Amino acid sequence: MKVMVAVKRVVDYAVKIRVKPDKSGVETSNVKMSMNPFCEIALEEALRIREAGAAAEVVAVSVGPAQCVDTLRTALAMGADRAVHVDAGAAPVLPLSVAKILKALVQVEQPGLLILGKQAIDDDCNQTGQMIAGLLRWPQGTFASKVVLDKEKQVATMEREVDGGIETLSLDLPAVITTDLRLNQPRYATLPNIMKAKSKVIKKVTPAELNVELKPDLEVVQVAEPPKRKAGVIVSSVDELIHKLKNEARIL
Ligand code: AMP
Repeated sequence: MKVMVAVKRVVDYAVKIRVKPDKSGVETSNVKMSMNPFCEIALEEALRIREAGAAAEVVAVSVGPAQCVDTLRTALAMGADRAVHVDAGAAPVLPLSVAKILKALVQVEQPGLLILGKQAIDDDCNQTGQMIAGLLRWPQGTFASKVVLDKEKQVATMEREVDGGIETLSLDLPAVITTDLRLNQPRYATLPNIMKAKSKVIKKVTPAELNVELKPDLEVVQVAEPPKRKAGVIVSSVDELIHKLKNEARIL
């Protein structure tokens, strides 16, 4: 069985986000970009499934500009067997378009399991996994905190954290799983593997070759920074606190 993993290139989680002066989006030029953290977790899970003998191959896929190749090199250095870059140009590709592209790739690659991050930390959409499961009409398990694959029965059992406990789902394969933070701790790529990944071939396709038309079905009207927080005040007594809450904040 083959496991396909969708990995997105996003602004690194440690970078302080800056909004562009024209408020059209977030500044990405001269900013460190990395693999979306939830996608690292998705890839780690796919690698563990392969290492446990339940899958034969892990294929990493990224949709976006030419620089996605760097993200895919990281995926190869972490242990993915192959990588596919869907060159969609510089404009942001929205979740429904990514889902349509992934559907077309699934039809080519025929994986038994598709793993995605639960959300991309740049757009926080949390939509792509659900959309691709809908388009493929495959069972979906979102926000996985544990995944166990039964190769013989072709079933994935997964746990997800829900309000008040843990829900256990059993999914017939092929299926879509999206990963939550506590599923695993992704490995670091070792230097020899980073060097080896440099010489691996990354397959490139375009949305047009996959017969997918990139239609912007959402329009970003404006991106703005949250209002600056006012400085706090240190009060000297409980009486002063109550006085301020009553007369200044007027919440008592
Ligand atoms: P989102 O729905 O945008 O929050 O993204 C959820 C997940 O979908 C990500 O963690 C990725 O696994 C996948 N995904 C979204 N956009 C892309 C992309 N451009 N390339 C590859 N995977 C993506």
